[in-house]
Amino acid sequence: MARPVVAIIGRPNVGKSTLVNRLCQSREAIVHDQPGITRDRTYQDGFWRDRDFRIVDTGGLVFDDDSEFLPEIREQADLALEEAVVALLIVDGQQGLTAADESIAEWLRSRECETLVAVNKCESPEMGLAMAADFWGLGLGEPYAISAIHGVGTGDLLDHVVELLPPRQPNEDLDEPIQIAIVGRPNVGKSSLLNSICGETRAIVSPIRGTTRDTIDTTLEREGKAWRLIDTAGIRRRRSVNYGPEFFGINRSFKAIERSDICVLVIDALDGVTEQDQRLAGRIEQDGRACVLVINKWDAIQKDGSTMSLMEKELRAKLYFLDWATMLFTSALTGQRVESIFALASLAVEQHRRRVATAVVNEVLKEALSWRSPPTSRGGRQGRLYYGTQVASRPPSFTLFVNEPKLFGDSYRRYVERQIREGLGFEGTPIKLFWRGKQQRAAERDLARQQSPS
Ligand code: GDP
Ligand code: GDP
Repeated sequence: MARPVVAIIGRPNVGKSTLVNRLCQSREAIVHDQPGITRDRTYQDGFWRDRDFRIVDTGGLVFDDDSEFLPEIREQADLALEEAVVALLIVDGQQGLTAADESIAEWLRSRECETLVAVNKCESPEMGLAMAADFWGLGLGEPYAISAIHGVGTGDLLDHVVELLPPRQPNEDLDEPIQIAIVGRPNVGKSSLLNSICGETRAIVSPIRGTTRDTIDTTLEREGKAWRLIDTAGIRRRRSVNYGPEFFGINRSFKAIERSDICVLVIDALDGVTEQDQRLAGRIEQDGRACVLVINKWDAIQKDGSTMSLMEKELRAKLYFLDWATMLFTSALTGQRVESIFALASLAVEQHRRRVATAVVNEVLKEALSWRSPPTSRGGRQGRLYYGTQVASRPPSFTLFVNEPKLFGDSYRRYVERQIREGLGFEGTPIKLFWRGKQQRAAERDLARQQSPS
């Protein structure tokens, strides 16, 4: 997780989630709170120009009657700020300066984190700047007038954020351990796999700062890379704490997925794909994590020469949204193919981090267009795809510039995605495509220019 962290801080309802949505387009769909799942801090990946960063949203600082931080909230905010290189204080320009904003600003001034103030809801061309000027009083420098909903001013704000990030290390990706999460329902064999993996190596177990207190990660080396097994305590936990057979720490699994670069989704060969497996798989795909599908307890299956391919077909039908993930049949009991997990994970991670030059992307798009023209609307308007460019990695994300996104229906979009995969590979990682129309293009022009072939 070498990405620099940007913390979003502010009172409830000032527009933090709206802003985060805008900054993390690739993950728009999952910003909503999951009912019944407690959420402390949410991590999301964003990018601007050529920089990737991670956004941590403190989820709204709540105050008591005297505009003092509630202690448990403050603790969360402290943790978030500890790992951040830039803090974005979001305030509400329409409401004006409040005592709670002042408390947050005071706290921020006492910390060593670079802080920018974004005054949201300033979409009014006449009033916006004046509304923002009120917040000079926070003592945190020039307030940025923005509108998260309308996208006004967010570009300048992000330019400044990116300037404050530490310079990108050319091979920072290689030095950082790869975050790998073993996830799956209870009893599929996660801890058995973990034992089989860590058996021969002396695992270094170390608590990681800034994460849930009982989270333990294990670091090891395989395939010439350093790996950090996320939340080993969580994997082993069931043994020491009696939760009852029905307990499935899905929230904990979601957190592990969120922290990971790659997930090993373990499925019980005897049970096949269940609804719980599908939920985890869906989350991995939504979060844009690389993935290896491990079908465990292979030793317990009666088999002949065609069992594996038949079974793979059956499992894949239920996990169609992970059709890009490689599948491995293992036995934690006998150790069969357990070590291959890392070979496959290694390939998947390389694809997840891959960047493809714009010229190559457009070569593939040109080919796709010549095989199948974009659809035409009933009114006779033909879809036009001008060009595409990779705007982010982890997962590889592409913006495709078109005349009118509406003209490109699901089936054509899927076709283009298939063509990109066929032409460029990306086995083991999800990819994201953003379809941008003319009206959005003015705002994106600048971004595209920054992403020219390297
Ligand atoms: P959070 O609690 O800080 O995450 O705030 P939300 O993102 O949920 O937004 C709170 C409310 O403010 C919602 O009703 C948004 O629609 C509204 N809002 C967010 N951004 C803007 C903006 O730029 N202008 C206006 N007028 N309203 C906004
Ligand atoms: P977890 O809850 O996912 O961590 O699962 P465990 O590792 O605790 O395993 C649950 C049960 O499945 C235990 O009784 C294991 O002995 C058994 N098990 C795990 N892996 C295998 C395997 O590869 N083959 C067989 N036959 N049993 C296994």
